Parts: sequence; C-alpha cells; structure tokens
Amino acid sequence: MPLRFLIRDGTVICPASGLRGRFDVAIVGERIEAVGESLPAEAGDQVVDAKGLIVTPGLIDLHVHVFDGQDLGVPAATVGLVHGVTTLVDAGSAGAHLYPAFRDGCMRKARERVVAFLNISSIGLTSTLLAGEFETLSYASVEECLRCVDSNRDSIVGIKVRVAAETVGSNGIRPLELAVEAADAAGLPLMVHIASAPPPLESILTALRPGDIVTHCFTGLGNRLSDPDGRVRDDVRAAREGGIIFDLGHGGGSFDVETARALIGEGFLPDVISSDAHAYSIDLVESLPAVMSRFLALGVPLDAVVERATTAAANILGRAKLGRLVPGAVADIAAFELREQRVTFHDVNGREFEGSQLLVPRWTIKDGQLVEAGELGPFGRVWSAT
Ligand SMILES: [Zn+2]
Repeated sequence: MPLRFLIRDGTVICPASGLRGRFDVAIVGERIEAVGESLPAEAGDQVVDAKGLIVTPGLIDLHVHVFDGQDLGVPAATVGLVHGVTTLVDAGSAGAHLYPAFRDGCMRKARERVVAFLNISSIGLTSTLLAGEFETLSYASVEECLRCVDSNRDSIVGIKVRVAAETVGSNGIRPLELAVEAADAAGLPLMVHIASAPPPLESILTALRPGDIVTHCFTGLGNRLSDPDGRVRDDVRAAREGGIIFDLGHGGGSFDVETARALIGEGFLPDVISSDAHAYSIDLVESLPAVMSRFLALGVPLDAVVERATTAAANILGRAKLGRLVPGAVADIAAFELREQRVTFHDVNGREFEGSQLLVPRWTIKDGQLVEAGELGPFGRVWSAT
C-alpha cells in the first residue's frame, strides 16, 4: 500500500476550487485523495500537524533560471523545494544548441519538476553580459528551434524571446517575428521579455497572440506598462482583454516599486507572480515567497497572491493536475507560516518599502514526498530580516 499522509488542521487556500479555511488534506501515493473537515485517520497514516500554517498548492515559479553551470543559472535546489516551490519554469536560459546539456545536466537531476521555455536564440542567454543574443540575427533560427521542440515535447512548454534595446541591437522587431513564427509552428505560447525601448511596447503587443506572455510587467524602464501619469496604457488594457498574459518576473531589473504601486492602484495586478531568480538577481529576489511577500506589503490580499504563484501558472502551462488542492491532483503542497513582523524590502532601484508580513516556508510535499526542514537547507530562513 502506498503511504497515506494526513495533513491536519492547516488553513487551506486552493484558488482553483475556491476552498479556503481550516481543512485536512489526505494524500495517497502521488495524488491528493481528499480535502475536507476532520478527515478520518486510517491505521498507518503519517499525520502532519499544520495547525497555524497556511497550506497551499506547491508553488510554481513561471520565470526562473536554473541552467546551473551557465553564467546566469542557479541550482534548482536553491530556488525550489526549500522555498515551497515544486515546479520551476526555466525562462529561456537555453536555446536549441544548449538544450540537451540543460536537460541532461540540470533538469533531469533536479528534485523539483523543471520545464522550460526554449529561447529562439540558439545560444540562449549565455552571452548576456557580453552582447545581446539577437544582435546576430542568424542565431534566431526557427528551424533549429522547431527541431529542438520536436525532440523535447515533454519538457518544453513555450518559446522565449527577449525584445529590448540591449538584446536586439539593430534588428528591431525581427527576432520577435521569428519567435512568433516558431511558437505558431510549434503550437506553443511565447514569453516575451520587455525592458528598454526600442522596439516600442506598442509594436511588441501588436505582434502577440492570445495566450502569449509578457514578462517583466512591473518594469520601470522605457517599455513600462503605465503612462507618465501612472495610468495603465490603453494598449496594455486592450492586450489583456485580448488574452495576453502579464507575468511579473521580478529579477534584477524588473520590479520598480513606483510602477508597481501605480499599476496595482489602477487594479492592474500581474496574472502571474514569478521570481526571475538567477545568479545576478538572487541576492535581491531572495525567493518566490519573498517576492509574494512584497505584494502583501503593497496591499494585495494573500489569496490573490497565492493564486498567481499556483493555479494561474499551472493553467498557463496547461497542467490541470498542478497548482490545486483537489482530489486527483498531483500531491504538491507547500506550508507557510504567515509571520507578522516589520520587514524592509528593496526594489531594483534601491528604493525601500515596508511590509508587516512574511511568508516563511515550513515544509513542502512534492509528488507525495515530504521534504522537511533541514533536509535541503535552511527552511524558514528570513532573508529580508537579516
Ligand atoms: Zn529571466
């Protein structure tokens, strides 16, 4: 008989079902068996006391860089289970020429579930600090990209392109057009990084299709989503109504707190909250729960924050068994203490803002396996408070 877990008495938040309150969760093998009030224990159950903890679906980080060994990558273990994150989505670290190295060297060795957006640039992001990956347009090979997608349908969930002044050089919108062509032919969504113009935001939004993702939606750079008065741009509202998805991708340069306040004040929340943790951003980003805590500091309700790092991300990935606490779903679960304490956050420009709550991870279950404090690292470490 597979092991049965009974998670007792946590405050369950399941954005997919709308379930919210003090419930038990039963797990058999790799699946959730039941969620309900005072579920009966069976002989041999492993009972986990979750009293006082927030119990959510395992977090999904839609934008992270875990091609360990490449300059931008960090080990999956540093951004994964230890922070309640069970699924990591690498956002274009590898292109076609390096994908097998990433897949075999990192993805398959990680305890986390790792999937990826494939960079339309065959060299991926390896040369970030030296030159833009689209300054040489021949790297953006649709043919190479499609060949790689066809060999890796199980792990490639979309195509990635970075469209900004520092990445495209004099090639303007052309890399984006090639990425749309590849995504169309592959039948996959496209994730587009925005930062500085040119190309201007309007020409980027115009090229996208429903279901495509704009990442770095709280950037304060030239292609920010708000106009100079702090209002959401009309073409941005139209894009969202037309099915374009907006992802946070905090990273080292894409969380400007003034832009965040303006957009949130206008009711414009990211559809997904992701960390964009990588080697150059990890000290600032800290972790996905730390990024989520920043939204609590900006007045976004906890349930809305959890939804954007679980169910919303799963839906974009088309993985209907992830990101939810319902019978039959994959048994990925995270437990957090919602710690009441003063905390000072810093945005990417060094601006400080204050919060009064931190989501502190306590334990994680992935595929029905419990990962406890100490097994992987310092669970519950409060980076921001030190
Ligand atoms: Zn990134």
